[in-house]
Amino acid sequence: MIQAKAYAAQTPETDLAPWEFERRDVGPHDVQIEIHYCGVCHSDLHQIKDEWFPGVFPMVPGHEIVGKVVQVGAHVKKFKAGDLAGVGCMVDSCQVCENCKDGLEQYCLEGNTQTYNNLDRSGVPTYGGYSNTIVVREEFVLSVSDKLSLAATAPLLCAGITTYSPLRHWKVGKGHKLAVLGLGGLGHMGVKFGVAFGAEVTVLSTSASKEQAAKDLGAHHFVVTSDPEQVKAVKGSFDFILDTVSAVHDMDLYLSLLRTNGTLINVGVPTEPYSVQPFSLLTGRRSMAGSGIGGIAETQEMLDFCAEHNIVSDIELIDIKDITASYARMLKGDVRYRFVIDMATL
Ligand code: NAP
Ligand code: ZN
Repeated sequence: MIQAKAYAAQTPETDLAPWEFERRDVGPHDVQIEIHYCGVCHSDLHQIKDEWFPGVFPMVPGHEIVGKVVQVGAHVKKFKAGDLAGVGCMVDSCQVCENCKDGLEQYCLEGNTQTYNNLDRSGVPTYGGYSNTIVVREEFVLSVSDKLSLAATAPLLCAGITTYSPLRHWKVGKGHKLAVLGLGGLGHMGVKFGVAFGAEVTVLSTSASKEQAAKDLGAHHFVVTSDPEQVKAVKGSFDFILDTVSAVHDMDLYLSLLRTNGTLINVGVPTEPYSVQPFSLLTGRRSMAGSGIGGIAETQEMLDFCAEHNIVSDIELIDIKDITASYARMLKGDVRYRFVIDMATL
């Protein structure tokens, strides 16, 4: 077994603290990565606090992982020691169902194996990226370009693919008015991709203070959602709304901002169910959809697209001992736009 160091939550009531555990040995199809940086996703906070479902504890969060390959199994073809590599939200899937064969491992009909807070296919708990090293089967390891800042690449593994995938699926681009709801980790990547794909992008935010920053990210317009006049001015105007909000919010209000045949794509995962007034959908034949991360091939496509177009996340690099304070800031929407842990501080 491989000795690993991490920060873990022992229970939903305790803060993250140093913890040591064992990773499996590198099998013939495995890649071992020395983790250099790991992004801090709001999903980490939802899960260590058991906000979605009862978790697997001790829990080592982290699914925006980048680092250097240190060891590969005998049958590994795509990677060698010294390569830069990344791991996102999944580390395995059945690989044979219809969805896995279509490159939609995130929708594996048997359920994908999540990078943490899950049991792997042999029943062993998975532990995520707030750690010095990880062992992952080759199919779930991504190639990372050395052209981009490695720390700023980390958030692409979740925030990046979670916004890239639905914008590609719904073919959002030139001629479309796209609203990005919530300017946090996912939202700021949604703005960057929406702009890169040629859409006219509006940020819908509760934080008036983010206006200039939204424009700096490339957004064409900014609407403060607490101002009824500003909201009224955009009623019925968007082809798509990419909803990245992490807390319960007024769906009927946001659906009313879609034009006829418009679609609200939900990627946020608040802890309570939504309520939706049926008239909000049938008026104007509006749709409400959802999307989860992205498949492995599409994640690689997104990383390659980012390397080609020089797109990374805007990050604030943190020491791992500041993780609990960083969660508190994330809850207040006070992060521009993603915390990334420098794993050298572990
Ligand atoms: P984040 O950085 O905390 O950003 C969320 C943003 O939502 C905040 O910055 C804030 O933006 C807005 N917001 C927060 N509370 C709000 C409220 N009560 N009403 C309206 N807006 C509010 O979080 P994140 O890491 O981007 O994650 C966002 C959500 O996506 C989380 O629920 C996460 O679990 C989920 N997620 C889903 C997937 C997937 O596969 N679908 C993948 C990753 C994450 P403003 O200040 O601009 O209002
Ligand atoms: Zn995430």
